[in-house]
Amino acid sequence: MRRVCSRCGKERSEINLPYAKMSLCPLCFQEFYVNRIRRTVREFSMFKPDDRVGVAVSGGKDSVALLHGLCKAFPEADFVALHVDLGIEGYSQHCKVKVEELARNLNVDLFVFDLKEELGFSISDYARSRRGKVCSHCGVIKRHVFEELAERADVKVLATGHNLDDYVALMLNNFFAGNWIQLARLKVVLKPILPRQTVKVKPLIKTPEDENLLYCIYADIPFRDVNCPYAHTSRLRRNREILDFLTKYNPNFKYQALKRFLELIEILDASIKQPELRTCKVCGFPSSGEICAYCRRIEIMVRHDPS
Ligand code: SF4
Repeated sequence: MRRVCSRCGKERSEINLPYAKMSLCPLCFQEFYVNRIRRTVREFSMFKPDDRVGVAVSGGKDSVALLHGLCKAFPEADFVALHVDLGIEGYSQHCKVKVEELARNLNVDLFVFDLKEELGFSISDYARSRRGKVCSHCGVIKRHVFEELAERADVKVLATGHNLDDYVALMLNNFFAGNWIQLARLKVVLKPILPRQTVKVKPLIKTPEDENLLYCIYADIPFRDVNCPYAHTSRLRRNREILDFLTKYNPNFKYQALKRFLELIEILDASIKQPELRTCKVCGFPSSGEICAYCRRIEIMVRHDPS
């Protein structure tokens, strides 16, 4: 029997959302997706309608769906796409092409930081010169470079594409590891402590990962379809599989976990003292030590001289 959309009651339903007890047609699903972003931004007061907001766009499904969804949810707002070209062979060029295409389609300004051009080395160079996992170094570099890009683009708010699945898995990781400081920092809106830091916001915190992919497909959004060669199976991925298993028996499990974690974060935030930050004596950005983690990595690469 043909199932009709639970919203419009006319079109054939294609997307089943068990946690919401709904089954939607493609058009109603896109509206539902955009409305949820709008509601999430307003619920957590992520930004004001006249703010200029930077969106970190890697080219993956989450970040491109975020930029597209934000532009649809707040057509009057001023969004800017920020992209880091990591110089990863067989990967980064493909990502950049997708981001450029999306920025053109949406008519938003795009600011790109090219690691090889600006710093003299790429993540591939870094990987060749260092043992161990590349991702943690890449993460440190990206976090810093996005702050620099935000300054260049003159934005005070930085939106990232963390989805519900990643977020709850990350909370679970920190919870089991007893990383209370890190857990407290997983706030939906992370305010700056020192100058030169942006407000970090996560408008997709209530959006399951697979719905970002569906939104990209139905809204015809360009996104990368190759994987980073350095991606590896992490504990985060294993926790996500556990969460998926539990969600089969309770479709609301991830939302319930999110709600409780957010309550816990408030309690932790009020009782835990975050490490004091100072200014990195090399780059001038906030740091927990004399020289920040980013500048220490740059120093290693300069000494190693990949050229
Ligand atoms: Fe960087 Fe790792 Fe992500 Fe690749 S998978 S882009 S190396 S953080």
